[in-house]
Amino acid sequence: MTDMFDREHLWHPYTSTLNPLPVYKVSSAQGCEIVLEDGTRLIDGMSSWWCAIHGYNHPVLNAAARMQIDRMSHVMFGGLTHDPAIELGKLLLEIAPPSMNKIFYADSGSVAVEVAMKMAVQYQYSTGHAKKSNFVTIRSGYHGDTWNAMSVCDPVTGMHSLFGSSLPVRFFVPSPSSRFGGEWNPGDIGPLQEVIRTHHEELAALILEPVVQGAGGMRFYHQEYLREAAKLCRENGILLIFDEIATGFGRTGKLFAWEHAGVEPDIMCIGKALTGGYMTFSAVLASDKVADGISANPPHSFMHGPTFMGNPLACAVAKASVGLLLSYDWQARVRQIEKQLKEELAPAAGLPAVNDVRVLGAIGVIEVREPVDMAYMQKRFVEEGVWVRPFGRLVYIMPPYIISPEQLGRLTSALVKIVREL
Ligand code: PMP
Repeated sequence: MTDMFDREHLWHPYTSTLNPLPVYKVSSAQGCEIVLEDGTRLIDGMSSWWCAIHGYNHPVLNAAARMQIDRMSHVMFGGLTHDPAIELGKLLLEIAPPSMNKIFYADSGSVAVEVAMKMAVQYQYSTGHAKKSNFVTIRSGYHGDTWNAMSVCDPVTGMHSLFGSSLPVRFFVPSPSSRFGGEWNPGDIGPLQEVIRTHHEELAALILEPVVQGAGGMRFYHQEYLREAAKLCRENGILLIFDEIATGFGRTGKLFAWEHAGVEPDIMCIGKALTGGYMTFSAVLASDKVADGISANPPHSFMHGPTFMGNPLACAVAKASVGLLLSYDWQARVRQIEKQLKEELAPAAGLPAVNDVRVLGAIGVIEVREPVDMAYMQKRFVEEGVWVRPFGRLVYIMPPYIISPEQLGRLTSALVKIVREL
């Protein structure tokens, strides 16, 4: 199954080149199925890491890509503009938090986080607070693999032990212990209050993933934390950055996770499902306060401008993907997935190897007690005809929204069956 060229020459995410984890060769993907080279069909539980919300090979997205490619795949955004960027922008502002009014297109989630952090620092600089150049965040977060993004990832599960001495040093507070849907413990905000009290003069922004912390631990925390945190930020001239790269586009049951709390950020990052998983693309949304603060004072322009900024092909597909999502009752779909996940993953809660089972929107998580053997688990899932890629102690799924109840049933029964074997 393993391709020898791939094994010897291609680097895959987070693995060794000497003894790489096995990879499965895909020949095509259609709807909710990934088809392997040998004809094995796997039901997709991962949406290719939160992205493929409409499934694979979707006729509407394919048509949008074809239409755009016949006009132009790319032109530079410096000095030029085009309909795909403008039309996508209009659509995004309709669904974004009302205070978001400016859009910066970027290349990937990590780059969006870099851009957001630069925006925050430049805003503070331009408005006369040059000393406010650092960041505070909550533990168990994940914001990407580039330098600044890495610096605000969880310092234990992230890569600080390896790169720590060369990373900028950020302020970390414990992530809230109050669970989403549970009781709010007012003590949860204490550590943030304390850091802000002592360090507000150095802080440009608080960055966090609202409600759902993804790759840093798949934790769902209480929305009251966001309300309290926003208040503290406002009182201390600290910007609030929401990283909605994973939570965006309906995954948590709301179009964006900020809606659970009704708290608007100053800057918001979106990516992943923005193009329905067709290609890498992201956007950073900002309020007029941020954009005007940067632009009204020297150097008057925001200092970032990637080569592929506003890529027309990505914009066209993103517009088609967002349009497709809004064209049907996606909320009802996500609610059905949530209900089925809750019912069908519940039996796992009683298993000896299981620490916790949690579901929010179209995300189902089984947290086991010991880190899993990823290669072994992946092989077992493939044997069961499903595609699930656990990490650490987390066995989780976030399927495409188009998944049928039967397909989802096969995913959840494989999950429970394999966790039972641990
Ligand atoms: N932020 C969050 C919340 C993410 O989940 C991810 C990707 N897993 C990123 C940022 C980074 O995005 P990308 O991998 O596209 O750079």
